[in-house]
Amino acid sequence: MGTLSNGKTILVTGGSRGIGAATARLAATQGYNVALSFVSNEAAALAVAADVKAAGRQALAMRADSSDPGELAQLFTAIDQAFGRLDVLVNNAGIIARQARLEELDFERMQRIFAVNVIGPILCAQQAARRMSHRYGGQGGVVINVSSASARLGSPNEYIDYAASKGALETFTAGFAKEVAREGIRVNCVRPGHIYTDMHASGGEPGRVDRVKDTIPMGRGGQPEEVARAILWLASAEASFITGTFLDVTGGK
Ligand code: NAP
Repeated sequence: MGTLSNGKTILVTGGSRGIGAATARLAATQGYNVALSFVSNEAAALAVAADVKAAGRQALAMRADSSDPGELAQLFTAIDQAFGRLDVLVNNAGIIARQARLEELDFERMQRIFAVNVIGPILCAQQAARRMSHRYGGQGGVVINVSSASARLGSPNEYIDYAASKGALETFTAGFAKEVAREGIRVNCVRPGHIYTDMHASGGEPGRVDRVKDTIPMGRGGQPEEVARAILWLASAEASFITGTFLDVTGGK
């Protein structure tokens, strides 16, 4: 497996913790050089970068708020300078907010969620397409958007705004996949279910996965590494005829 990705570059947004960190670490073991973005937890980002280097690959950890187009542009410029190529983009960075019903959601929260979860990934995909597309002399590439089962389920009484943002990301996946399908770029989406990460604490309920695990057909929550494996399979040549598709990693929910 390792030699297949040797010399390739992967960018994982939100690669400092959770699913993104697991993806960055696994990518390094598969031979990728790894760029990862974060927004506030620099220590966690540097720890992931150190693990990538320990696996014998190059790492670039950079603060780049997905809601800030200028910082995203700087991130891609830094990747150009450090690696000279970009083969895989994993649009993983995403946020929820405190669990609440619709009546209690304020405008600033909705704006922030859509900026980070929808517009950020679209801007990253735009930067990636300019580098990957045959249309611009690129070598092709893969984009993987990390959605959520909530795009199907709607997250009632918890975060309808978050679920709606993931629905938008999925529609973007469908359109973008078709737009660049003849330009060497495959675009797919992974939908995690309930995964053990810090994200649930930011929604106000750190133990959420254990609370809901009986509603999951397999009877357990998922580990970040289980999502990372799906992401990297879609990124690999094993998935060479797969584009515009959605892969649930949910234990059946
Ligand atoms: P997490 O543990 O909370 O980690 C979030 C990551 O995103 C961190 O690396 C964080 O950086 C980064 N991030 C947050 N806001 C950012 C911003 N504005 N700009 C750049 N990076 C930002 O989350 P996770 O559970 O791994 O979730 C990863 C993805 O999976 C998200 O898109 C999420 O919606 C999706 N997902 C998760 C679950 C689940 O159960 N965990 C289920 C379905 C879908 P810092 O370390 O600097 O804060």
